[in-house]
Amino acid sequence: MAASVLKIAINSNRNPNGVTPPRRFAYSSGTVKIATFSNNSKRTPLFSCPSSNHYVRTRENMFQPARIAGSDRVSGSDAHTFDVVIVGAGIIGLTIARQFLLESNLSVAVVDAAIPCAGATGAGQGYIWRVHKTPGSEKWELAMRSHQLWEALAKSIQNQGMDPLLALGWKKTGSMLVGRTAEDCSVLRKKVEQLVEAGLGAEFLSCDDLLAEEPALELGEECGAAFMPDDCQLDARRAVAFIEKANRSFAAEGRYAEFYYEPVTSFLRSDSSGGIEAIKTSKNTLHIKKAVVIAAGCWSGSLMHDLIRNAEIKLNLPVKPRKGHLLVLENFKALNLNHGLMEVGYVNHESAVASSTISDSRTGFDASTASISMTATMDMSGRLVLGSSRQLVGFSTEIDESIIARIWERASEFFPILKQVSLGDLSKSREVRVGLRPYMPGGKPAIGPVPGLSKAFLAAGHEGEGLSLALGTAEMIFNMVLENPQNVNPTPFSV
Ligand SMILES: Cc1cc2nc3c(=O)[nH]c(=O)nc-3n(C[C@H](O)[C@H](O)[C@H](O)COP(=O)(O)OP(=O)(O)OC[C@H]3O[C@@H](n4cnc5c(N)ncnc54)[C@H](O)[C@@H]3O)c2cc1C
Repeated sequence: MAASVLKIAINSNRNPNGVTPPRRFAYSSGTVKIATFSNNSKRTPLFSCPSSNHYVRTRENMFQPARIAGSDRVSGSDAHTFDVVIVGAGIIGLTIARQFLLESNLSVAVVDAAIPCAGATGAGQGYIWRVHKTPGSEKWELAMRSHQLWEALAKSIQNQGMDPLLALGWKKTGSMLVGRTAEDCSVLRKKVEQLVEAGLGAEFLSCDDLLAEEPALELGEECGAAFMPDDCQLDARRAVAFIEKANRSFAAEGRYAEFYYEPVTSFLRSDSSGGIEAIKTSKNTLHIKKAVVIAAGCWSGSLMHDLIRNAEIKLNLPVKPRKGHLLVLENFKALNLNHGLMEVGYVNHESAVASSTISDSRTGFDASTASISMTATMDMSGRLVLGSSRQLVGFSTEIDESIIARIWERASEFFPILKQVSLGDLSKSREVRVGLRPYMPGGKPAIGPVPGLSKAFLAAGHEGEGLSLALGTAEMIFNMVLENPQNVNPTPFSV
């Protein structure tokens, strides 16, 4: 059923300077999609956010307290001077801010063209599972370090008397990579061997064992799974809210400020050294003492291109938006899951195109058409979350109903009970999330200093792993800026 779109002009939304920004927001039923149009940004990105309540609450509370408190006492003489400025308030930018706030005395500003969760982060499923990762791959060390840091964060939340489930949506679901054929099972056995060799708790489940764990699956007699019982997932928007709150607590001591709805428009560079002295947003000039980190997700490539247009710097950051749809069902009683599941094909689904351009004759993958791979879990509120799609079709975040239908069909192949339910009947209880994963050909994020542009760092291109890789990325950038020893070799990610 096509989502009806209601466009509302919100011109009474005043920013902290009392200036009314020229913006429009579009809401559509089923999902909440927020389109931001700024006079200053020719890219006019479309953003998705989880719910209007969340959005309004965030918007009302967001800027003024953190910003006013922060900008009064920021170190240095100028209220708009910061040690570190971070461009992008997705999971990558916010966790980088968190790292500097917690581990140093530096002052930090976060700038965003919109608000947190406006980009890919707001659509993220929240899987920080490891069962589909490849030991020994270039991202492996970063993935493991990041996972360790998420575990430590969940533990520290618990040690402070809070519930990680409520704080982060942290849930020990275990993760399963599910196969349907003997060929799949031989791949899965090998995967388990690799994971065990890498020191992780993984096991192969025979068909009977798999069905005992997940009775809703109906897969024939040759099925099996790679299973990591200790894996956890989180809720992306809850985790963002938690991190934001913690970051804002530093505003009172003058170390943190937020500049939201302010797209970055240019760098100001020193005449003598060519290094960055400040960034200009649509409303402010923010002076930078130590570093500016571009963490603008799939917009990072075009943003960098614009920012260095007049500089004699060559930078190729071919990050592209890779559109993804998710279907979230509230109060869905027909199917109950005990674990987080992905079909074995997810591994290729994620990495397809990483090694090729637009199509791959070997895998039959065509990036212009959608690739659908079954992922399924129950979130912290008991909602069924079904995914996921991948498409390289530009910056649009319009819902494509045909993609939702294909996600449903794919899930039905694993859970035939779904065939008894019409997707059309679920329109009132469904939420569709659409986001643009920051996809890099080669499959690795770019993390590191921008060559030839002192003080500038990049942290972008995490595709479908930004949530899982966030804390490791933040630590890596922090150590780079402060020239500390690294816990993970950053070379594979150099810009
Ligand atoms: C459907 C879906 C499911 C996913 N599931 C998972 C999962 O289970 N696990 C996982 O690890 N990952 C998952 N991901 C991937 C993950 O969501 C992304 O990798 C991650 O959110 C990227 O974060 P980011 O901060 O780099 O980018 P974003 O969240 O996109 O943030 C970029 C920010 O930059 C801002 N910006 C853009 N231009 C400018 C400008 N000119 N000036 C200032 N700010 C600007 C934007 O407003 C935006 O807020 C999923 C993604 C999708 C779409």
